[in-house]
Amino acid sequence: MIKGIKGVKDILPEETPRWRFIEDSARRWALCYGYQEIRIPIFELTVLFARSIGSATDIVEKEMYTFSDRDGSSVTLRPEGTAGTVRAFIEHNRVADPRPQKYFYIGPMFRHERPQAGRLRQFHQFGVESFGTADSRADVEVIALLWRLLSDLGLPNLTLEINSLGSSGDRAAYTPLLRSFLSQQESRLCGNCRRRMETNPLRVLDCKVPDCRAATESAPRLTDHLSPEALAHFDQVLAGLVAVGVSYRLNPRLVRGLDYYCLTSFEITSAHLGAQNAVAAGGRYDGLVEMLGGPSVPAVGFAVGLERVSLMLPRASSSSSNEWLYYVAAFGKIGTKLGLVLLDELRRMGLAAQCDYRATTLKTHLRQADRSNCRYAILLGDDEARRGSIILRNLESKVQEELPLAGLSTLLKTRTPPS
Ligand code: ATP
Ligand code: MG
Repeated sequence: MIKGIKGVKDILPEETPRWRFIEDSARRWALCYGYQEIRIPIFELTVLFARSIGSATDIVEKEMYTFSDRDGSSVTLRPEGTAGTVRAFIEHNRVADPRPQKYFYIGPMFRHERPQAGRLRQFHQFGVESFGTADSRADVEVIALLWRLLSDLGLPNLTLEINSLGSSGDRAAYTPLLRSFLSQQESRLCGNCRRRMETNPLRVLDCKVPDCRAATESAPRLTDHLSPEALAHFDQVLAGLVAVGVSYRLNPRLVRGLDYYCLTSFEITSAHLGAQNAVAAGGRYDGLVEMLGGPSVPAVGFAVGLERVSLMLPRASSSSSNEWLYYVAAFGKIGTKLGLVLLDELRRMGLAAQCDYRATTLKTHLRQADRSNCRYAILLGDDEARRGSIILRNLESKVQEELPLAGLSTLLKTRTPPS
């Protein structure tokens, strides 16, 4: 037997209503905040991710699914959505459009990681990107959208953590201070962090290993070394969040793994998720469009991990009941023939209907009707066929009524309450 790949999951029909519920909510909130859907490719040239995400990040160092295409070019399954969105933004010269360029995407991402609860090799993200302004109101907008969505989904125990990474100049001035502090603590750091000390010292602050956390407790803080402009921007973002009623916790250690972030950086965590406690993360990336060969265009965005949302989603919020309205129980010689036509008529009217073609008796049809999640069964045997009628049975109350077969779908259409 051929099995699926480790860390790559099937989403079975019992689970898809839950996923649709999450995706529909995400789309609704994004549109409500003025974001339009973009669909970017699943794979891109490797250089796009290597250059934008940064070579000294977990993703580029060890998580990308990279292979050579038949023409020898190196391509990679997208590990995240920002790089592709920015590439599309540049390639289609969207900067020339005078309207605000605000996009959202939903879809699968691929990272080679050790699979565990909430950490997969193929997973799904919903993300937004707002291009064109460094105004702090854009930061507040994306954070508020994210917060409203996750709250609306009823996710428990959410915390918004926020930090400022300053400008690239601020970070350039701060990095040597941090590096010299870290070199004094070197013996207490994990192997990974010793290496990162050179390549990406900011990431050491983000290490989850308890010894590393303890060793960096009194590390110099980037927020103490922000330029007046960066500080003012941060203050405006925080004031905006207060104004719209989104509460936050300052976290000076929050640095994010991707090189392209600057200024605002944030994460939403939940105590419910255990070790994989981040549900969503984002921030500002004013330098990325230019770095990828486009004009200088500031931008801010986030990405939510939908598997983690699904893990936290209260059970009751999406149910799969009543996916179909009518079960057509057609049996007997004439009944079966008329049933075929009736089923199609109902569907053409837009009334969701189904039938199990394996059932040939009333008894087996009724059993399948009960299993089907339909609200009504339409009983049509040879007796009914001869009388030119059907029996409409409410599958919950078991109340039955006899109705004429001619014009039935039109009659039912007018009786169906709008859903
Ligand atoms: P983590 O610290 O958990 O590895 P990350 O910093 O790599 O997260 P981002 O690149 O910021 O994550 O992605 C945003 C969100 O996507 C995460 O908060 C998480 O919910 C989700 N995510 C990231 N990697 C995975 C994965 N392998 N499986 C499932 N969800 C993931
Ligand atoms: Mg990761």
